[in-house]
Amino acid sequence: MKSKLINISDFEPEQQINSIDSKIVASLERISQAFRVLLWQESKEFTLSPIQIQVLIFLLHHSPEKRKVSYLADEFNLTKATISDSVKILEEKRFITKEYDANDSRSYMIHLTKKGKDIAAKAGFFTKEIRQPIINLNQDNKENLLLSLLGVISHLNQAGVITVQRMCKSCAYYRPSVNGQTHFCNLLNQPLRDIDLRIDCPEHQLKI
Ligand code: SF4
Repeated sequence: MKSKLINISDFEPEQQINSIDSKIVASLERISQAFRVLLWQESKEFTLSPIQIQVLIFLLHHSPEKRKVSYLADEFNLTKATISDSVKILEEKRFITKEYDANDSRSYMIHLTKKGKDIAAKAGFFTKEIRQPIINLNQDNKENLLLSLLGVISHLNQAGVITVQRMCKSCAYYRPSVNGQTHFCNLLNQPLRDIDLRIDCPEHQLKI
């Protein structure tokens, strides 16, 4: 039954009418379109491309070892050449500076300038219209939504669709919930309720 349903496009109207699964997939697609539209609006304001805006926001919120071309390429599922082009433009506009590795002249860490930080901080609010209806959900619905989305992201990561992720479920310190008990973080040495599960944890250590 499952495989029969999966052979029908989620965008086929008849399928969408009869399948809640397809309605959810189509809804996620609409939301992804909203992200694209909002990002475009933001990028037009600063005459930057959407990926350049995303790189600036990422640089503002992540530690120096993540602020490298190869890490950014994995993060955004783009080639290093594409990221390098974006970094070049950001440098020309004086939004970032490069700090070259003393042992490898091809490798560098990227730092935001004051101007870059200001733009990144402002652009980081491009999601506010998406957050508004989420704020209005009740707590149970928020928790269910969060857990469901974490499950979808986890699957996409395992299927190789998206590469980098810093969620509890892929972390070496994570101990899953067993028999209805809470999850546990071995680094923080504390239980994690469903709402404590992180999606972008600075202490994340990839499970090998
Ligand atoms: S270190 Fe962070 S990502 Fe890892 S289990 Fe603890 S809270 Fe989750």
